[in-house]
Amino acid sequence: MILISACLAGQPVRYNATDALNLKLSQLVKEKKAMIACPELLGGFTIPRPSAEIMGGNGADVLNGTAQVYEQTGKNVTQAYIDGAYHTLKIVKNHQITHVVLKENSPSCGSGFIYNGDFTGTKIQGIGVTTALLQQHGINVCSEHSFYVMLMEDNQNIF
Ligand code: SF4
Repeated sequence: MILISACLAGQPVRYNATDALNLKLSQLVKEKKAMIACPELLGGFTIPRPSAEIMGGNGADVLNGTAQVYEQTGKNVTQAYIDGAYHTLKIVKNHQITHVVLKENSPSCGSGFIYNGDFTGTKIQGIGVTTALLQQHGINVCSEHSFYVMLMEDNQNIF
């Protein structure tokens, strides 16, 4: 069993109420080979919501208290991002999930890139808050772009 970002499975749960449908990943959900979760909804956010970015570092820095997550409105939403990460971790542990595919560029779900915190659309290398927490607990996290690499390398352990 794997866990997939709900937006990649076609759920319109992104900040602007859109999805990020990936047909191959959503097919895994239909075949009951994958579960879905949205860390931001698990953290208490609703749809739609203001966009948010990590300021001062990446998801690992948020967890250790040296970076913060802010909405574009200026509201500090760090704790809700941390809460969502821990709720996601609980789901992963409860279902013995070892591999997770999360949406790239998100302040929760990014695993290669996130936005740089100035709301100009500039991406930097980095990971989101949920990705950081899952990786700290030994979970394999990849993006929708690198899922097939993970599948080729570790197919027997994924399903
Ligand atoms: S938190 Fe993750 S799953 Fe939820 S909308 Fe953002 S990228 Fe998708």
